[in-house]
Amino acid sequence: MEEKYRAEIEKKRAESVNRAWKIISVFVVVFQLLMLILMAAKPGGPFKTQRRAIYCILYLTLFLVTGIAMILNRNFWRREKKNYHLYLHAELVYAAFICFWGCCVTLNDQLGGNDLSVFTYMMLSVAALGFLEPLKAGVIFMAAFVFLNICLPGIQTIENNIFSNIINSFSIAGISTAISYSLYRNKVIVTKQEVTIRKQYEEITRVNEILSHQAMVDELTDMNNRRYMEWFIGEKIKKLEEESGTISCMMLDIDYFKQFNDRYGHIAGDVCLKKIAEIIRECCQDNDVAAIRFGGEEFFICLFRWDRDEAVEMAETIRERIAECRFKINGEEEGAVTISIGVYTWHGEGKVQMDDLVCLSDKALYQAKKNGRNRVEVLS
Ligand code: GH3
Ligand code: MG
Ligand code: MG
Repeated sequence: MEEKYRAEIEKKRAESVNRAWKIISVFVVVFQLLMLILMAAKPGGPFKTQRRAIYCILYLTLFLVTGIAMILNRNFWRREKKNYHLYLHAELVYAAFICFWGCCVTLNDQLGGNDLSVFTYMMLSVAALGFLEPLKAGVIFMAAFVFLNICLPGIQTIENNIFSNIINSFSIAGISTAISYSLYRNKVIVTKQEVTIRKQYEEITRVNEILSHQAMVDELTDMNNRRYMEWFIGEKIKKLEEESGTISCMMLDIDYFKQFNDRYGHIAGDVCLKKIAEIIRECCQDNDVAAIRFGGEEFFICLFRWDRDEAVEMAETIRERIAECRFKINGEEEGAVTISIGVYTWHGEGKVQMDDLVCLSDKALYQAKKNGRNRVEVLS
């Protein structure tokens, strides 16, 4: 079995065993108790004959072993860290015990006639409910078969039955092994499919997250981009439109950035863009504020439920912080840029589109550029 599936298959097998065990163990305990009571109630008591005493000992043994197994099973599933490998080993021991218990009851049955029924249903139950590894199951079933047929001639009353008992018990051991093989194989196939599907799903989710991040986030500044604006901010605008809430927006543009690039180079320009993005992000921590890199050296900020004066105050803060900021260019010079900002506020009347907000704040920005740059202008 491939190593990567082993742990998962063991876990699934243990879970299946536990599901069956919860019902079977209660049935076994109650049934043995009932048999013990019936034996005790029989005329002459439970120890009247040697055969009856052996039955009592066998019922009591199964009752006690199953009771202890129930306690151990309950403790195992309560544990935080579960060793499924060990659990399946313990299950194998219990399965072997059940098969040999079935042999002992059958041998005792044989003293009163010719009956393999307990051997039969014990073996079949272990095969159907145990999810044992086929090889180990086969060894247990064949060992039980050998044990039964070595002991049988010594206690058998009817000579002719020896051959038929060998054939019948061998068939039962064989069928039980075949059932174990079939169930185990199905469990392995299903678990492998589940693991493969889960791994594929995790991979798809991971790739999706990367793709949606790449689609929504600008690589250089790590700010959200226009796609994010259309998708996420657009939704928020629609909601505020229904509430007739105020929306303020601002378009920010670096002044004479082409000259900056020409003078210091594009790498230095990128450093400058990153620094400005950092300042904008710091100023836009509020949950009702969304900032994006609109494109090139332009940024756009949406302030939901912010009125005009609040937006202008915010714009002035950003403008001042950028104007005061000094950053290293090519490791030596101290660089500085200014920005112009256009502010527009929509007061919640009628309908509004994302494009309108962009267009009108762009108009205000144009005013700011025209009126001398490094300033905030409001569209009135
Ligand atoms: P104005 O004050 O009128 O806005 O002048 P400006 O020079 O900033 O405007 P213009 O539109 O002429 O030039 C914008 C410049 O922005 C041109 C381009 O080189 C630069 N730019 C746009 N995107 C990037 C970028 O990702 N990295 C760098 N380094 N520069 C960029
Ligand atoms: Mg521009
Ligand atoms: Mg510019």
